[in-house]
Amino acid sequence: MIGKKRWSSIRWKIVFIYFLLVFIATTIIGVFIMSQLEAYYKDSIRDNITRMVEETMLRSSLQEYGDLASHQAEIQTNISSWSKGVQQEIFVVDNDFTIIAASNNENLILKSAVEFLNQDLIVSGLNGKIDEKDEIIKSPKKETPVKSLVFPIGEEDSIKGVLYIREDMTSVYTTIDKSKLIFVQAMVIALLITVVLGFFIARSITVPINDVTEKAEKMAKGDFSQEVSVKSDDEIGRLAEMFNLLRQQLNLTLSEISNEKSKLETILKYMADGLIAVDLSGHIIHANPAAMAMLSITADDMVNRYYDDIIKGYNEGLMFDRLRENSKDGGATDVFFYGGSTFAVRYDRFKDENSQDVGIIMILQDITERQKLENMQTDFVANVSHELKTPLTTIKSYTETLLSGQVDDKETETQFLNIIDAEADRMNRLVKELLQLSRLDYKQEKWNKKESNLISLLKSVVTKVEMTAKNKNQHMNCIFDDGQKIMAVIDRDGIEQVLLNVLSNAIKYTQEGGRIDIDALRLNKSAQIIITDNGIGIPEKELSRVFERFFRVDKARSRAMGGTGLGLAISKQIIEEHKGSIEMESKEGRGTKVTITLPLSHSRGIKNIE
Ligand code: ADP
Repeated sequence: MIGKKRWSSIRWKIVFIYFLLVFIATTIIGVFIMSQLEAYYKDSIRDNITRMVEETMLRSSLQEYGDLASHQAEIQTNISSWSKGVQQEIFVVDNDFTIIAASNNENLILKSAVEFLNQDLIVSGLNGKIDEKDEIIKSPKKETPVKSLVFPIGEEDSIKGVLYIREDMTSVYTTIDKSKLIFVQAMVIALLITVVLGFFIARSITVPINDVTEKAEKMAKGDFSQEVSVKSDDEIGRLAEMFNLLRQQLNLTLSEISNEKSKLETILKYMADGLIAVDLSGHIIHANPAAMAMLSITADDMVNRYYDDIIKGYNEGLMFDRLRENSKDGGATDVFFYGGSTFAVRYDRFKDENSQDVGIIMILQDITERQKLENMQTDFVANVSHELKTPLTTIKSYTETLLSGQVDDKETETQFLNIIDAEADRMNRLVKELLQLSRLDYKQEKWNKKESNLISLLKSVVTKVEMTAKNKNQHMNCIFDDGQKIMAVIDRDGIEQVLLNVLSNAIKYTQEGGRIDIDALRLNKSAQIIITDNGIGIPEKELSRVFERFFRVDKARSRAMGGTGLGLAISKQIIEEHKGSIEMESKEGRGTKVTITLPLSHSRGIKNIE
C-alpha cells in the first residue's frame, strides 16, 4: 500500500512524464536524423556516380560504338582503365543481357547479366531511363549492401545496352550504425539527466505540498498552531500563503465560535427562564438548569428521553405534535401549570443554515409570582374601592335623609350626624393608612430611629388601651418586669403604632371578660414582645393570610369594630423595616398569640436614650 502510494505520488509522476517526453522527443529526433543521414549518404553516392559518368565521358564514349559485342575487348580495356582508382564496380551490358565488360571481375564477361546483376534495373536502362536501386548482394560469405545505377547507352530509339555501375555501401551503413550508437548513448545520458533533474524539480514542488498536507492533517486533528513557511512567490508559495491565511481565519472563527458557545452556555446556565430544545423526532436535545428545576428533572433523566414522556399528563396542549403544528406559521405561546407553579411558554421552530426545520425551542417562564402580584393588585384596587364606597354610601344616605327634612327630632338628627362623623373618621383612617402603606411600599416613610426602652414604650401603650379593655371587662396582665430595660433602636411612633394595633386587635377579638397577657423578653440578640389573648382566634386555613392587605376573617365584624383590615399589613412592614419579625399563632375559639421580635441595640449608654 505504501509502495503503491509512493509510485503514485506526484513526484514520480512528474519524473515519469519528463522521462517520457524526453524519450519521445529524442527518439523522433534520432529517427529523423538517421533517416536524413542515410538519405544524404545515398544521394551523395548517386551524385558521385552520375558525376563520374558524366565527367569521364564514359557513357558518350560507349555510345560511339556501333555494336557493343563486336568491340568487347576494347570496351573491357577501357572500363578497366577507367575504373582504376574508383570504388565503383562498372559493367557494360549488351541489349541482349550479355555482360560485355566488368571492371572488377573479368570472369563475368560474356555471361548473362540476369544471373549477376539486377534484371529490372537493366530493363529500365534498356527502356532509356537512368534508374537506381539499393540492393544486397549475397555471397556465401557475406551480404553486401550496394547502390546500383543504370545508364542507357545509345539514342532513345536505338539502345545498344546499358552502363551498370554499383557501389558498396557497407561503409555508409557502418557510419550510420555508429551514429546510431552515439545517439543512443547520448539519449541514455539525456534520459538519466532528465530523471535526476525531474526528481529535483518534482521535489521542489512536492516538498512544500507535503508540508501543507502534513500541516492540514494536524489542523484536521485540531492543532491550529501549524504555520507553513513560505519560501517562494510562485503558485506553491501562494498556496502556502493561502493555507496560513486559512489557518488564521479558521483559528479565529473557531475561537469566536467557542467564545460564543461558552457565552451561550453561561447565559443558558444562569438565565432565569427555562429553555428546552427538542429535535424533530421529539427527543430532548438540551434543557438548561432552570428548565430542569421547573420540570423537576435531572440531566440523566433526559438522556434519550422523549419530550412527551416528561410533559405527558401536565398539559396535553403542549405535547410535541401540537407544538409542531402550532409553530408552523411562527412561534406560539401557552400557559402551563406544574407543581403548583404557573409557567408562560413560548415556543418556535429553529432551523439549520438551509432553512430546514431542526427542532423546537421552548422558553418556560415562571409567572407564579407575577400572577400573584397581578391578582393582588386587582384585589387591592377592588378592596380599596369597596372600602371607600361603603362609608360613602352610609354618609350619602344619612345626609340625604337629613336634607329631605324627614327627621324632625333633635335626638335622631344628632344620632345621624354622629354616624356620618364616625363614617367620615373611618374613611379618613382608611385614607391615612393607605397613604402610609404607599409610603412604606415606596420607602418614603421617614423614620426617626433612636435607642429606646421597649418596656417603657409597652407600658405607655398599655395605658392607652387600658380603658377600652376595662370597658369590656377584660383582664390585661403585664407579665414583664416593668423595672427592666430592653433597649432597641426603633422609631418610637412606628413601633407604638404596631403595639397599639396588636393590642387593640387582642381587645377587639376577645369577648367580654376575656384575658390578655402582655410579656416582653430579652433573648440573646433580640427582644420579644408577646401578646396573648383568649379570644375568638383565627381558623387555621386563614391564619397565613392575616398579614395581607384588607384581609379580615369576619369582614362584617371587623368593619363594625372600625377595622380597616390594613393594621397588620402595616405592622408587618414597620417591623420588617426594623429588621424584626411579627408572627401569629392562633386556635379558633381558643385565642391568639402575637410574637414581635426586634433586634437588641448594640450600643449602650450613648445619646438619645429615652
Ligand atoms: P382589622 O382592622 O380588621 O383589625 P387587622 O389587619 O388588624 O385588621 O387584622 C386583620 C384580621 O385579622 C382581622 O380582621 C381579624 O379577623 C384577624 N385578627 C387580628 N388579630 C386578631 C386576634 N387577636 N384575634 C382574632 N383575630 C384577629
